[in-house]
Amino acid sequence: MADIIQLLPDNIANQIAAGEVIQRPASAVKELLENAVDAGATNIQLIVNDAGKSLVQVIDNGKGMSETDARMSFERHATSKIKAIDDLFHIKTMGFRGEALASIAAVAQVELKTRKPEAELGTYIEIENSVVVKQEPCAAPAGTSICMKNVFFNVPARRNFLKSNPSELRHIVDEFIRVALSFPAIFFSLTSNGQQVFHLEAGSLKQRVIQILGNQYAAKLVNVKEETDYMNIYGFVGKPDTARKTRGEQYFFVNNRFIRSAYLNHAVMTAFDQMIAKDSYPLYVLFIDLDPSQIDINVHPTKQEIKFEDEKIIYAFVQAAVKHALAQFSIAPSLDFSL
Ligand code: ADP
Ligand code: MG
Repeated sequence: MADIIQLLPDNIANQIAAGEVIQRPASAVKELLENAVDAGATNIQLIVNDAGKSLVQVIDNGKGMSETDARMSFERHATSKIKAIDDLFHIKTMGFRGEALASIAAVAQVELKTRKPEAELGTYIEIENSVVVKQEPCAAPAGTSICMKNVFFNVPARRNFLKSNPSELRHIVDEFIRVALSFPAIFFSLTSNGQQVFHLEAGSLKQRVIQILGNQYAAKLVNVKEETDYMNIYGFVGKPDTARKTRGEQYFFVNNRFIRSAYLNHAVMTAFDQMIAKDSYPLYVLFIDLDPSQIDINVHPTKQEIKFEDEKIIYAFVQAAVKHALAQFSIAPSLDFSL
């Protein structure tokens, strides 16, 4: 019998790997915004057309890339953010897998324009199907602009899986909000089909929360803040009367990274205990900071799930911090003595 195993060509391997990272236009939004944050930008503009299906563009005023780096950035496993596996446990950046740009370049047409502030000329690169089709020096503002065009143009099966424009746009807005909430000191804007959806001036976390959730919350936010040697928690929970029947604005960030955690959500819910109706959901925007060695962020390709070294301590801490913040609203102080 003849041997039958072959190595896949790079562009096909990239397309398969891209499936984990880029599921929809919103996945590219998340990756490109995080790259802009990692590049130290103070001004980040997101532009989408047709809910990101025809265009996702992120423009930043960050540190830009050299000509060689610009080209390298699209290689799989190419990253400036880690060098060794141990670095994962000291990570300060949002990215580290070196997969986002390679994945985007495998499933879309990409145009990159980038210039380091200290360089006179920038670099322009066009990529299609993971292949560089054009590269030349160009005049450009300091920073980076990346366009992802016609996502999945070369993977029709995936393109067919995309949802309606309103639904894909909702996913984009969700990702945009998560990044914008974690970095209130950065200006962010979102423009969709030429219309400005968000224009978020840099400010405090409270200002950012109100910019995003709406002015009606200005008087409805309760400050949460506790510090220990092991971890810090800060942010806001909504006053009990802001709880809604639908699961709405609930955000957890660990070391500035948005995460989903049913376990920590439960900690908050129990802290609200008697103060809200049983099947209603309180608003919260909570940030937990702890030593990166206490978490493993490399358990999920989009990093939305993480592993804690000691989940129980964190649960207890979150619960206690929220309870403490809400003490003023406790209508049944006698409960405290019933233990
Ligand atoms: P990762 O973010 O995991 O390192 P990416 O594929 O997202 O991987 O990016 C690859 C590399 O390209 C980054 O490590 C960074 O050096 C560079 N890069 C990407 N986006 C930008 C940007 N907006 N500004 C400057 N450098 C960038
Ligand atoms: Mg990245």
